[in-house]
Amino acid sequence: MLDCFCCDRIQQIIDGTNSYFVKEYETGYAVIADFQYYRGTTIFLCKEDKAELFQLDVEFKKKFLEEMSIVAEGVFKAFQPRKLNYELLGNKDMHMHW
Ligand SMILES: [Zn+2]
Repeated sequence: MLDCFCCDRIQQIIDGTNSYFVKEYETGYAVIADFQYYRGTTIFLCKEDKAELFQLDVEFKKKFLEEMSIVAEGVFKAFQPRKLNYELLGNKDMHMHW
C-alpha cells in the first residue's frame, strides 16, 4: 500500500532504523508506540498489508490473533497495568495494527 504508515515502520525495522522495534513474530512486529499517552502503549503491526481480519488466510489469521495475545501478555508483564485495552482501528491507517 502506497503511503502506508505501517509499511513505512516495517521497512524501518527491516532496515534496522526503527528505534521503537521490540520483537519480530511470525505474523507481525511489536513496537513501542512513539506517543506514550498511556505508558506502555505498544503496537503490533501485521506483516500483511490488509485492512480486515477476514482478508487474511485462515491459518495466518489464527496465528496473528494468537501472537497479538502473546504481545499483550508481554506488555502486561512489562508495564503491570490494572487492565489492558485492545484496539484494531484503521480510520487513518487501514493496515491492521493492534
Ligand atoms: Zn501497509
